[in-house]
Amino acid sequence: MHELAITQSILDIARKAAAEHNVKRVREVRIKLGEYSGVVPQCIQYYFDVISKGTVAEGAELKMERLPILMRCEQCAWEGQIDKHHISCPACGCTRLKLLQGREFYVESLEVD
Ligand SMILES: [Zn+2]
Repeated sequence: MHELAITQSILDIARKAAAEHNVKRVREVRIKLGEYSGVVPQCIQYYFDVISKGTVAEGAELKMERLPILMRCEQCAWEGQIDKHHISCPACGCTRLKLLQGREFYVESLEVD
């Protein structure tokens, strides 16, 4: 769905950074990916291979580090990691949870030549 737009923004970031630092080739793009972001990593790499052709980032490998979902319970103040298929507080069972981490999606760093 929105993977192509996301991939385009990753490529834009890589190209901009490469231009600023006079980089010849981007070998690797490290990305942080929240479990709750809804992004499918396989699609991103596929799109990236296609749209990076002829750019400084052609053939770069995307390394995704997954960030687990962290929630805080509004009722009992429990905080911790949660399975995205069971969104309820393990301590009190309520579902009034606040997302602390898990929706992230950003480029952390580039590995370049
Ligand atoms: Zn609770």
